[in-house]
Amino acid sequence: MRQQVKIMHVPIDQVTLETAFYAFQRFMDGTSCRMIVTPNTEIVMEAQKDPDLLEIMKEADLVIPDGIGLIYASKIQGTGLRERVTGVDLMYRILEYCHENHKKIYLLGGKPGVAALAGQNIRNKFPHIAVAGTQDGYFQREEEGRIVEEINRSGAEILFVALGAPKQEKWIHRHKTLLQVKVAMGVGGSIDIWAGTAKRAPVIYQKLGLEWFYRLMKEPWRYKRMMALPKFMVKVLLGKK
Ligand code: UDP
Repeated sequence: MRQQVKIMHVPIDQVTLETAFYAFQRFMDGTSCRMIVTPNTEIVMEAQKDPDLLEIMKEADLVIPDGIGLIYASKIQGTGLRERVTGVDLMYRILEYCHENHKKIYLLGGKPGVAALAGQNIRNKFPHIAVAGTQDGYFQREEEGRIVEEINRSGAEILFVALGAPKQEKWIHRHKTLLQVKVAMGVGGSIDIWAGTAKRAPVIYQKLGLEWFYRLMKEPWRYKRMMALPKFMVKVLLGKK
């Protein structure tokens, strides 16, 4: 049975990395395309003013808590999110599975060349994975039909989409019924980490729940978007009162 916690109307699955991975494995036994989303506080805040995004989160098949703010909020609300489960970690676990089971994947998104580079690095690390295709994330709306066809023709079972949030969630949702992959997952900046064009925060920042701070130092122009975190915490605290 699926157990979810609501944070500002957004249902988040009460999972650990392992139970999220079990859910993924169940999706692989299915026949239709399932959608995995990895919201952080920015996306939960975005969903407050974007009803389409909120609906997409409600319809997603697995919603993992990829933000330390969501864990704090859950603690303040007295609901049961235990730990942060990052998209980067779940993607890694899924790639291990793909290697063990000789699966085909497709990488969509990132600047030109980034998905191909990420694909090469994934293959070097996991040689039994077949990277069935890659496509950069800067295409026109008219090209989307062709891209969906190409993904289907490639025979990939797992699709990783890195168009930034919420663009990637909307893209997957828009094409979900046509996509023949078993799982489509929004992975944001993870593709850049695999390509080597961005680095994940050192473990010490991850352990202290300060990955957001590391990102702010590396990409200071994101500060406007990141103001969502303090705003979110204030909202949670006021909601509690
Ligand atoms: N991206 C893309 N197409 C777009 C916008 C973004 O392919 O139209 C890619 C971008 O190059 C990067 C990834 O999406 O590789 C994540 O972008 P961002 O860091 O803005 O998103 P977040 O990690 O905050 O979801």
